[in-house]
Amino acid sequence: MSAKVPFESREKIPFKTETRQILNILIHSLYSEREVFIRELISNASDALTRMQFELLTNRDVLDADAEAGIWVSGDPQAKTLTIRDNGIGMDAQEMAENLGTIAHSGARAFIEAAAEQPGAISDIIGQFGVGFYSAFMAAESIEVVSRSYHPGGTAARWVAQDEETFSIQPAEKADRGTIIVIHLKEDAQEFAQEDRLREIIRKHSDFIPHPIFLGSSTEPVNQQSAIWRKQPSTLKNEDYTNFYRQFTLDHQEPLLKLHLTVDAPVQMYALLYVPQSPERSIFSPRKDEGVKLYARKVLIQEYSKDLLPAYLRFVDGVVDSEDLPLNVARESVQSNRVMAQLKRVITNKLVDALNTLGKEQPEKYAQFWKVYSRYIKEGIATDPEALVPLTPLLRFQTAKNPTGWTSLEEYTSASPSHQDKIYYLLGDNERLLASSPHLEGFKAQGTDVLLMADPLDSFVLLKLEQFDGKQLVNAAQADAPVQTVDQPEPEPETSLGEEQRSQMLERIRSVLGDRIADVRATDRLVESPARLVDADGAMKPEIQRVYRLLNQEMDAPKKVLEVNLRHPLIQRLALTAAENTVTPLVIEQLYENALLLEGSVTDPAKMIARIQDLMTAALENSHDQ
Ligand code: ADP
Ligand code: MG
Repeated sequence: MSAKVPFESREKIPFKTETRQILNILIHSLYSEREVFIRELISNASDALTRMQFELLTNRDVLDADAEAGIWVSGDPQAKTLTIRDNGIGMDAQEMAENLGTIAHSGARAFIEAAAEQPGAISDIIGQFGVGFYSAFMAAESIEVVSRSYHPGGTAARWVAQDEETFSIQPAEKADRGTIIVIHLKEDAQEFAQEDRLREIIRKHSDFIPHPIFLGSSTEPVNQQSAIWRKQPSTLKNEDYTNFYRQFTLDHQEPLLKLHLTVDAPVQMYALLYVPQSPERSIFSPRKDEGVKLYARKVLIQEYSKDLLPAYLRFVDGVVDSEDLPLNVARESVQSNRVMAQLKRVITNKLVDALNTLGKEQPEKYAQFWKVYSRYIKEGIATDPEALVPLTPLLRFQTAKNPTGWTSLEEYTSASPSHQDKIYYLLGDNERLLASSPHLEGFKAQGTDVLLMADPLDSFVLLKLEQFDGKQLVNAAQADAPVQTVDQPEPEPETSLGEEQRSQMLERIRSVLGDRIADVRATDRLVESPARLVDADGAMKPEIQRVYRLLNQEMDAPKKVLEVNLRHPLIQRLALTAAENTVTPLVIEQLYENALLLEGSVTDPAKMIARIQDLMTAALENSHDQ
């Protein structure tokens, strides 16, 4: 803050424009769940206490060093006020001017934008969005804050906002550390002076705040407070976990997966981890970064710890709490701590196990997970050498036999016949094209399944994944289907074409397509299709070609070999057609173009349409002659 706010004056200081905009929206909104402002004020009090605890780890030279942390909430129906007090870190006058006079955090701007975009949905926005301190204006006529910082030499100050336009700051009397917020309630907000109503609101929205909340003159906390992750899983109901999750994340959906760990060896740890239904943090989410909350003996050490999980699990949210971490770990030195490495290993293994179990026991839910998070798992395999083995069982693919479902490598191998010692895959850009690719024909004829890999990330996975369960992964475009040894039907006669006709035809194709192809040859791997394109021997592996292409590397696509099916009527016709027939080059061009299309290659549609029209004309002329 460069411009010093004249906080000592009794004059009214105008709120910043942005703040005024927000206050205006809040004051005039008819939001039925405006009770959430109490959640926001309690959460600020809790943050102030947590920051105080952290300070006390290394600094005892503070005001009221021995005070018991607490939050006190009371309503006064006669005075029409609601008061929230804490003995947290407190604020001096300057801090009040900065923290309460402006809305600095980026969320504020996002709020104004969201409100402007969907004026009808303001209630929703307020409900989910941490508008923080300002949300009190939904219920307040005016707000008064008296605070004293933990710094021993400081003095107290009073911040008052009578309306949404201005605030004032002046010196105040307050002997102890912390903050008192007095809300003078609007006429229609008198419910918030009723203690029964307050109890209900605190239980609903702030039950898991990790500090005691006292209501009225009661000395018994109204919130559960005891960290849910420190409880035995057997004592908790599913509902408890969901409630905690909702208060923790403000996500209105249920989590996709939860994992509660209480571990004693090799390292002591409580962890409660969640996989949300979506990894996107909405602007409403209180989570401002990736990472999990790290507690050492109940004290929050890191709000977004990134050292407890590998990068590919960064979508996991939750809490890790260990008794084995030294309490005085400075934030910077946390990551080099030996215990951290142990925690990371245990948590990672357990999470991967839990995902595997979900895959086996709840395939539908796992499919939901896979749809959203497959890119993280594939990223892990592609970038983290330690991840290949544990993450491979989590992979799912569409297959030629089951093109709409998800199949694991284990399911693929256990469904394959015993004579099949390989895992076949086919790479492509598009699932639908892959499922009808000519490369699959030989495999379909032998009843062999093939994994269909249409996701660009699959190419990166293939660079690392060479085998599974001792079975090599092989590209179906470059391999023969494994031949069944028993009950093998008589092979069909290849073709009635003579050697001469055959080589003439191949030569004709070669001369029409010229150097667009590496070669032309006959194949018996095709059944229904007349032709296909394959990589030339010694060409760069297709997955590597794709990786280069995806990384936008300049690379000329290597020329391919056109393989033709001599049993196909079109090819047989072609061989029997006189060399001087003018339709022949058109047919060859189109044959090649069709094969390109099936590979997902882009061709020139205008040119192709003109050619097809010529072919149609020729076909009609032909039938007219007859
Ligand atoms: P946020 O909590 O997201 O930072 P808020 O609008 O809720 O935003 O609060 C703004 C700031 O005001 C806080 O970051 C904090 O610095 C200060 N603040 C609010 N309430 C308290 C409190 N009870 N004790 C100390 N500081 C507080
Ligand atoms: Mg807040």
